[in-house]
Formats: sequence, structure tokens, C-alpha cells
Amino acid sequence: MIPYARQSIDDDDIRAVEAVLWSDWLTTGPAVPAFEAGVAAFARTGNGVAVSSGTAALHAMYHVLGIRPGDEVLVPAITFAATANAVCYMGGTPVFVDVDPHTLLIDPADLERKITPRCRAVVGVDYAGQPCDYDTLATICREYGLTLLADACHSLGGADKGRPVGTLAAMTAFSFHPVKHITSGEGGMVLTDDADLARRLRRFRNHGIDTDARERERLGSWHYEMVELGFNYRLSDINCALGLSQLARLPAFLARRREIAAFYDAALANATDIFPLAVRPQAVHAYHLYVVRLAGSVDRKAAFQALRAAGVGVNVHYVPVHLHPYYRERLGTGPGLCPHAEAAYERILSLPMFPGLLDEQAAQAAETLIEAAKTCHA
Ligand SMILES: *Cc1c(COP(=O)(O)O)cnc(C)c1O
Repeated sequence: MIPYARQSIDDDDIRAVEAVLWSDWLTTGPAVPAFEAGVAAFARTGNGVAVSSGTAALHAMYHVLGIRPGDEVLVPAITFAATANAVCYMGGTPVFVDVDPHTLLIDPADLERKITPRCRAVVGVDYAGQPCDYDTLATICREYGLTLLADACHSLGGADKGRPVGTLAAMTAFSFHPVKHITSGEGGMVLTDDADLARRLRRFRNHGIDTDARERERLGSWHYEMVELGFNYRLSDINCALGLSQLARLPAFLARRREIAAFYDAALANATDIFPLAVRPQAVHAYHLYVVRLAGSVDRKAAFQALRAAGVGVNVHYVPVHLHPYYRERLGTGPGLCPHAEAAYERILSLPMFPGLLDEQAAQAAETLIEAAKTCHA
């Protein structure tokens, strides 16, 4: 089976991890700030704070923003559940916003409709790797006094109007799960230009303690103070060494992802029942996913099964978050809340997209999809 996503590990990655294993520091060592500085420099952002997952990155952002019970955070309905779940970790309430039917990015018109006096923040999710229209989101946030955050777990290497992802919101969360652009095994990071926010993010990932072990050793002191309740969300040097080695390969990874997307675009251009998602002209897409919508005349489930049976590992991203049983029970959400998201969910498929995908595998995926769309009638 051709997977929909897969990590790409080479000898340099393995050597980088091995070097850390022989070193003095397996965690809180020098690989952590090196990885943080590397990702921050890549995204032309002032500060990076490495954490144990993308979910931890979201939780850390909401924590330093001070999300409390009663606060609402606006999130798109089409995203990985963690974007909303981390709001619940803070006792806050995620408010689900519908998406634009052509891009599946958060819809500014529905966003404005759903703002209440309890809203604190808006989270732009760069679905599939395409950055949201951050200027429009920032204008709305200014008008209503909201903080703009970004869940960029899909879009490391993307840009909007020439500005890199990482610089487009007050804080931006990334994931280094193996399906993402670069991997550290598990891992995540928050990028921010605000040094004070970065300091508070670091404290939160380390139990709410101001200094870490290496700093105490450097200062020759045992003393530390826990000033708030934090978590152990640290990312180890083993993970960071892998991430830093992967970062060196990120430009090549992105180039290959864009090459595969261009191939799919061309291969599917003449199909009358398969529609790749629209790309905003000012967006530089990072292609975490390549998502197509199937015409209403195609039986999506049958097409999904035909592709899987032919060895093409397609997937569906995502079940609209407000339709999950947890949110239906917790918040009383359900069908009708975000009609574009719900309609898109019935019609989408993600094709295989990862740097190691071979040309012939991409061709097989496109051909099998075209054939499936012809034969699987709704
Ligand atoms: C992957 C992902 C996350 C969570 O990242 P983890 O590292 O798996 O915790 C959050 N949001 C989106 C949009 C993601 O794709």
C-alpha cells in the first residue's frame, strides 16, 4: 500500500541522533536551543520554543494567552481535533467556524457571525498547507479585540503575501509528527516574535519553573522557583537532534511536495468529476496534504475503497470536529452548525503526498482516482 504520508529518514538523521546518545545531555541540553533557533531562523521569527507535540504547542499558546473557563476560542470546523481539544484543556470553549467551500480555510464571514463578548482568540488553521488569509483575520481580530493565533501544523515553509508562516500571527504552533514536513519522532514548537511570550512558553513546558537544569548547573545553584502550574512538555535532545537534521532537508522536502502537487494538478486537470482544492493567489502552499473534492455524482466511499483495494492509501482529513461525539455531548454541536464543512467532508479525499513518493506512485494514484471516479457512481 502506498501510504498517504510517510517520514523520510537518511543516514545524517541517524548519525545526528547517535551523536546525542553518546553526549552528556539527553534532554535540556544544547540540541534544544539549536533546533529552536534553526526553525525560528527558517521562518524568520524571533523565538522558537520546542515542546513535546503539536498538541502541547497549542496548549502552551492557549495557556500563555490566559484562556479561562467561560472564554471562547474560534476554530475552524475542518481541522485535527487537537486545535479545539487544547482549548478544553484550559477550561475554555471552542466555537466552530465554517470554512470556505473552495479552500476549506476558515471563512471570515462566518467567523464574524460567531464572535461573542466571551471570545478571546481566533485560530487560523493552514489546512493542507495553504496559509489562511491572515490580513483579513487580523483586521477582524483588531476590530473585536481578539488575539490571532495560527495552527501551522500543516504549513511549515508556507507563506502569505511574501511573509513566512510563523510571522503571521501572535503565536504559531507546529508539529513534528512523522506525517508532517519534518519530524522529530513526536514534537512541536511555538514560534513568536514576542520575547516575553517565549519566556512564558518555556516556563509552561517546564512545570512552571523559571530556570532549567542546565541553566542551574551553569549558575552553580540548586535553587529554583515554581511560579505557576505548568507541565512537563519538554522535547528531548534526541528528538531535537533529529528535528535539526531534518530541517536541513526541509527545502528539498518542500520542493518535492510542490512537484508532486503540480503533477497531480496536471494529471487531474481534465477530469470533470475531481476538483483539487483552490489555492489563493497570494498563498505559497506547503502541501502537507493534497486534497481533492469529488463531484456529487461519485460515490466517495466506494471510490475510497477502490483506491485502497488498488494499493493507494488515500485518507479523509478530517471529520468536522463539531460532529465528534465528545463535542456533541459537551457543547450540543451537530449537523447544520457548519454546512460547508459538513458538505465538504462528504466529498473529500487526500492523495498520497510525501517527499519519498515516487513519480510512478503518484501517476498510479492519479490514474486509479480518475478510474474510480468514472466507475463509482453515487
Ligand atoms: C498534527 C496536527 C496537530 C497535532 O500535532 P501532534 O504533534 O500530533 O500533537 C494539531 N493540529 C493540526 C492541524 C495537525 O495537523
